Amino acid sequence: MTGNLRVGGVALATLMALMALSVALAAAFQHATSVADDLARREERVHVARFLQRAMETGAQSQRGLIGWDETFEHAVLKVDPVWTDREFGKFVGNTQGIATILLVAPDGTLLRGWRDGRRANDLPYAHLRWQIEGLIAKALNGAHTLDQRADTMKLAGGRSWPTNAAGMPNALWESGIASVANRPSIITVASIVPDRRPLLLQEVPNFLVTIQPLNEHVLARMSEDLALPVVGFADNASTLGSRNALPLFAVDGSPLGVLHWEPREPGPTIYRRTTPLLIVWIMFFIGVVVGGATIFGRTRRAAHELAASEAQAQHNALHDSMSGLPNRTHFMQRLRSELTACIEGRQPGDVFVAYLDIDSFKVVNDTLGHHVGDELVRQVAHRLRRKLPAGDFISRFGGDEFVLLRHGEGGKAAADALGEEVLALMREPFLISGTKLDISCSCGISWGPEHSEDPGELLRRADIALYRAKQRGRARYRRFTRDMDASLKLRREMELELRRAIAHNELTVAYQPIVGIASGEVKGFEALLRWNHPERGAIRPDLFVPIAEQGGLMVSLGTWMLRSVFTETRHWPESDISVNLSPLQIMAGDFLQTMERLIDETGIDPERVILEITEGVMLDRSEHVVVVLRGLARLGFRIALDDFGIGYSSLSYLRSFQFNRIKIDRSFVSNIEADLDAHAILCAIVALGNTLRMKVVAEGVETETQRRLVQAAGCELVQGFLFWPALSGAEARDLLLPSANRLRRVG
Ligand code: GH3
Ligand code: MG
Repeated sequence: MTGNLRVGGVALATLMALMALSVALAAAFQHATSVADDLARREERVHVARFLQRAMETGAQSQRGLIGWDETFEHAVLKVDPVWTDREFGKFVGNTQGIATILLVAPDGTLLRGWRDGRRANDLPYAHLRWQIEGLIAKALNGAHTLDQRADTMKLAGGRSWPTNAAGMPNALWESGIASVANRPSIITVASIVPDRRPLLLQEVPNFLVTIQPLNEHVLARMSEDLALPVVGFADNASTLGSRNALPLFAVDGSPLGVLHWEPREPGPTIYRRTTPLLIVWIMFFIGVVVGGATIFGRTRRAAHELAASEAQAQHNALHDSMSGLPNRTHFMQRLRSELTACIEGRQPGDVFVAYLDIDSFKVVNDTLGHHVGDELVRQVAHRLRRKLPAGDFISRFGGDEFVLLRHGEGGKAAADALGEEVLALMREPFLISGTKLDISCSCGISWGPEHSEDPGELLRRADIALYRAKQRGRARYRRFTRDMDASLKLRREMELELRRAIAHNELTVAYQPIVGIASGEVKGFEALLRWNHPERGAIRPDLFVPIAEQGGLMVSLGTWMLRSVFTETRHWPESDISVNLSPLQIMAGDFLQTMERLIDETGIDPERVILEITEGVMLDRSEHVVVVLRGLARLGFRIALDDFGIGYSSLSYLRSFQFNRIKIDRSFVSNIEADLDAHAILCAIVALGNTLRMKVVAEGVETETQRRLVQAAGCELVQGFLFWPALSGAEARDLLLPSANRLRRVG
């Protein structure tokens, strides 16, 4: 967000800077063009002024033939000859373009004679011109201009010196200026009349010839053409001319005479016209560059931002469980490590408690209500833990139905007890999922560091051991970790490893305990029993290692091994039944029927000789699935016996769900039969039930003669027990079936 603002700020600032730069550039450009315009105007004024200057000089030069001539001197200076001057001066006016008026004036300014438009004029308004002409004559006499190059001087009669030219002739002096004549500015030129052959004729200051040339349209048109200045005009003052260029004209005495004006040829507009498109392109280009740059920059920032966000998301995902939103194992271990370190280094007093939680019988929820309900339960448990436990507790999910929480506190065992109680109490309140009320419990194992371990992994393992113990002890409880738990667990782990090795190295064997007809004592069959002869520990009882195999995930392969061994060994034995125990885990394995078919093919056993024994416990769990499997087994030809009958929960209902071939009365009834009348009565009832439902009843664990008699009296046909035969090796068992063998032999 702030990144975007910053990008926006930079882009805006750059845009503003660019706009300011563009404005400055435009202003500079404008200034440059106006300077250029000013210069051009000034130059035009210089040209116009020069043109006027040239016009004045030309005016004097054009009189050269008339004023530098002995004859003119004689007729217009030494005396004023009316006939001659009328003729010559009138002709001169007629021949000289633009000259409207010509005067003959004495050096003191007195008008001697005048002509206008080629004719003698007596009514010339000379009074207002005289003082200007006097001024020009005075300037001319001061020697400002000479008609020829000035070479020397000569003296006049009064001692006055007069310039001469290279030929030693007196030089004509002239001066020119502008004056207003009949309200129009005119160039007035005064030039002295001098002799051209007889210099000595000049003894005094001579008369002057004055020409008046109005700045009329003709002159203005020539100026316009020569200087290429469009439309030249004359005005009284400049105030009404707007943008036109103008040159003020002044009279000889310096008084203003109005202005000459014309349309200026300013380069500014042309420069504008030619360069403005370039300027616009330039500005557009830079705006494009800035906008494009800002866009690219913004996109890059956004991409970087998104990348950072996705990195943060990835990091969050790496440390959290997606289903519950709780921290995962990795995150938990990081936290546990840092808390433990802080405790060990003394930065934080007290203990670090680890409580390992596992929902009891969660699989049942999954199996009976569906996986989605299981998922929702996990989410609700997570939510409840997070909501109800103190904010300082760190709660994580390790997957499945396992949660681990970390609490920092003081108080050792007492605090661990309080934590355990708190967690169990939280789970006691039912959960409501899709309208179904769900009562669950959980088990919990607690350890705390640094007392139990300074290593986070080990501390967690110890909480797990305590959890395992809580499960073992019947669930819905918590256990604190104790050192002896570790020792027994270690033993279990070792046994598990050794069991794996035993399966791999064929250390396991099968023993066969005969099942005999109680009336004849004849061997009718055998129960195959798994035996483990440990090279160091000696014989290990199945009730010790089978649970280890079940919990270690070895049961299915162990069961298959057992079936294969029994089928292989007994397939050629003379007629007899062979009973084999099945573990619930074998039956629950999805491919059990296929395994059995494969074993039949592989070993060539006749399934009709085999009785598969299952315990009531199998029926407890997912009985529908179990019944399907049992029917499949029956179809393959196997017979099924219900083992340990009478100690389960609702035995009778199982008998309705499947037609068992046999029931085996649990040995506890037989062992109590002598002392316990109820046991005897139950035995009788079971046998009667078996007879009614066409099931053979087997009594196991018959160890005394009295027991045998009572069992027989109850109507039981088949028995097995130490009173008859112990478990035998395969070879011994087979020998028993040979015709020569004493099949009635008893133990002892
Ligand atoms: P116990 O009382 O011994 O804990 O038995 P349990 O049935 O709870 O079984 P256990 O804790 O050993 O196994 C947890 C089961 O949870 C295993 C698996 O089928 C199931 N499970 C694992 N992950 C998930 C999941 O994400 N969602 C659901 N619904 N079930 C899961
Ligand atoms: Mg569980």
